[in-house]
Amino acid sequence: MRITDIRETAIPLNLKLRNAVFDFSQMTTSVVAVITDVIRDGKPVVGYAFNSTGRYACGAQMRARFIPRILDADPDSLIDEERNNLDPEKILAAMMQGEKPGGHSDRSVGIGTIEFAVWDALAKIEEKPAFRSIEERYNPGGAKPKMFVYVGGGWYAPGKGTPELLDEMRGYLDMGYTQLKMKIGGMSVSEDMSRLEAVLKLVGDDGWNLAVDANCGLTRQAAFDYAKAMAPYNLRWYEEATDPLDYALLAELAEVYAPPLATGENLFSTQDVENLVRFGGMRTDHDVLQSDPPQSYGVVAVTRTIEMLKKHGWTENGLMPHGGNQMSLHIAAGLGMLLCESYPNTFGMFSDFADDAEVIDGYLTLDENRPGIGFEAQSELYKVMSELSAD
Ligand code: MG
Repeated sequence: MRITDIRETAIPLNLKLRNAVFDFSQMTTSVVAVITDVIRDGKPVVGYAFNSTGRYACGAQMRARFIPRILDADPDSLIDEERNNLDPEKILAAMMQGEKPGGHSDRSVGIGTIEFAVWDALAKIEEKPAFRSIEERYNPGGAKPKMFVYVGGGWYAPGKGTPELLDEMRGYLDMGYTQLKMKIGGMSVSEDMSRLEAVLKLVGDDGWNLAVDANCGLTRQAAFDYAKAMAPYNLRWYEEATDPLDYALLAELAEVYAPPLATGENLFSTQDVENLVRFGGMRTDHDVLQSDPPQSYGVVAVTRTIEMLKKHGWTENGLMPHGGNQMSLHIAAGLGMLLCESYPNTFGMFSDFADDAEVIDGYLTLDENRPGIGFEAQSELYKVMSELSAD
């Protein structure tokens, strides 16, 4: 058994969305195909992935470093002999050869995307959904095939006022979602509070059903102004007020803002997250740590982050994946996390889950009969993926 080829391509997202800091008009993502010599249904098994959203395509690093390190390795050195399958831990180690400590984002997105494609392939080889393959290796008996999903939405866009925002949010409720998140920080505090109050009315005046995300775009003063204005609403969480690496400021915010805070999608390694929980004032009983698994070295690294977090008093319930795609969904389900983000219709073909996925009262039940991550059930995305792996 061996990996015979790894291919990548960059796809533009062509979006008009904006958060507090930047717009997505130039955004791209890398799509990866890991081709094996294992035959199922008369064809080679191919694993697919893409590098989630919000970080640009990273083909140059993959082509120069990570892909050759895998293809040049002795194929037997990348095999899990006990399971007669690809070994993601060994493949991760092969990709990390020659890499200097620190500076994780230089490589974590490319490596994590290839690693996820390896998981798609290995799960297809064992003819299981990826979350079951993850469960078997790292969380025996602990999978959550019925996963709570919340919508990361409430975007700013040209010409979009509160009525249009309410249309967007109402649409998510109509799809079966119960918990929503909206952007803040792209207007004044008073304008954003009026947007927030309108959405709160829609979700039932219960702060538990609404989170907010400032995308690291607030000044120090604005971060505290929003905290003061929002505290009475007891929101589900207040996400990324300021720079994601300013742990001291986050700790100050945690001193004055009692409801949950959230951050982590802009950290890329277990060590980065350890620094966050050591110095960021995060509270183990209700704050929310977010990571984007394909952007932070992939599945194996997330299991190592969870082990690290447990030493600091956290449970797996404190870590919830950013990303709103089937990769995050399978890791959340396989590792038994509390919830998973969802982006219905937000990022074009890179949005959302399977075409036939149905959310009922906020929960999505994963398909037990679809091997791998399940991109084959996202027709538009799978068209791009299958063209990449075609002869
Ligand atoms: Mg965010």
